[in-house]
Amino acid sequence: MAAATEHPLSELEAFARQVAGCTKCRLSQGRTQVVFGVGDPAADLMFVGEAPGFHEDKQGYPFVGQAGKLLEKLLAGIGLERSNVYIANVLKCRPPGNRDPAPDEIQACEGHLFRQIELIRPRVVATLGNFATKLLSGKPTGITRVHGLEQEVTLGESRVLLYPLYHPAAALYTPAMLSVLEQDFARLPELMGKEIAPPAPLLTPVVPEPAPAATVQLGLF
Ligand code: URA
Repeated sequence: MAAATEHPLSELEAFARQVAGCTKCRLSQGRTQVVFGVGDPAADLMFVGEAPGFHEDKQGYPFVGQAGKLLEKLLAGIGLERSNVYIANVLKCRPPGNRDPAPDEIQACEGHLFRQIELIRPRVVATLGNFATKLLSGKPTGITRVHGLEQEVTLGESRVLLYPLYHPAAALYTPAMLSVLEQDFARLPELMGKEIAPPAPLLTPVVPEPAPAATVQLGLF
């Protein structure tokens, strides 16, 4: 029998294996497994949710419950499937009882997300809800004020278009929010085709002129 061909691990796969053993915060103690992320490793569009819930923790994939079903429906509305995008969360492990992520957990875990973004290099990062939006925008402004407003940001080495959206789990129970989410979602194809300007060049530091000889000499007396 022919030996199975061994494919070298991509950097993202190698990173996922490393994160699978993460013990940086207390959530490692209660998890079934790390929920790293799923989808096209070279996706132009990446979604970032909050944290794995009960089903995600059991199955090992993000957005597999009701919120995930809605996300799939919204994706279908713009002609995309899960496999065309990349989906990850701010936290890679389930908080007990699905409580909100704690600040120290976000801090412990954020390096994993930043590295993922660096390796995937998406053009658009759509943040789902408050936690992802605040973390990746670096600003405290909540989702109600910034949803649907794209902004160019530098994440790690990448220049991306950050696009905050309501979290599908919240939209599931609030019809008005669902309709806003649908409208915001409909702009994603346009945003994915948008040119992103390179970061503004840093100002060149002004090198001070050497002091005239006379001044230097005066200083000697
Ligand atoms: N499932 C996830 O993976 N993330 C969320 O934020 C919600 C549900």
